[in-house]
Amino acid sequence: AQTDSHPGPDGHGDAHGFRRRGVLFVLSSPSGAGKSTIARKLLAAEPELGMSVSVTTRPIRPGEVDGKDYHFVDLEEFRRMVAEDEFLEWAHVFGHRYGTPRAQIETMLAAGKDVLFDIDWQGAQQLFQIAGGDVVRVFIFPPSMDELRRRLSGRATDSAEVIEARMARAANEVSHWDGYDYVLVNDDVESCFEGVRTILCAERLKRSRQTGLIGFIRRLTR
Ligand code: 5GP
Repeated sequence: AQTDSHPGPDGHGDAHGFRRRGVLFVLSSPSGAGKSTIARKLLAAEPELGMSVSVTTRPIRPGEVDGKDYHFVDLEEFRRMVAEDEFLEWAHVFGHRYGTPRAQIETMLAAGKDVLFDIDWQGAQQLFQIAGGDVVRVFIFPPSMDELRRRLSGRATDSAEVIEARMARAANEVSHWDGYDYVLVNDDVESCFEGVRTILCAERLKRSRQTGLIGFIRRLTR
């Protein structure tokens, strides 16, 4: 429960004794646009921001850590979670299933944290509906499709078909850019990161998020 006179048990809130509702912060982009770098930098810079770790049926990639990058499950387990309503949202993305487990979000919000979601446009749309529009949706563009092709061509072993398939996915993701509140171009990681961080900071200060504001103003004007 949030009150207008006490910071949360974790000290969240400020010296004036009012706290705010956590921001649901969605970051989407085609893969190769640098979204995961931005997300990593944001989490490191903002201790009050927690990451929503999704569940997926896609196979784990080299370098990924189960429980950190995703919770990797088989189709049967995913279906069980859907049946038991354990997801806030879920979607088919490029032949696999991805979902946001509900419980961790509730825990983070109860602790007064903001939550970062690395989900696609379908997830952003579903979350927007579930949260009654109280979601901040940020889309990151690659500097250009040519540059994206260069980044997606990364490994010399990839065939032309594989690269074309990645480009087609990217074009599909980009086509949904108009479902977002903010758009940025990642031609420089540092300035793109600063832009995303500025959005988060501004959203935190929105009047509608300051749940104890009325009490605070009453005390000020008494
Ligand atoms: P990847 O397999 O490359 O990690 O992710 C593929 C796509 O799935 C990315 O666009 C990513 O944002 C999206 N995605 C990851 N987790 C979720 C999720 O829980 N829900 C939805 N809707 N999309 C997700």
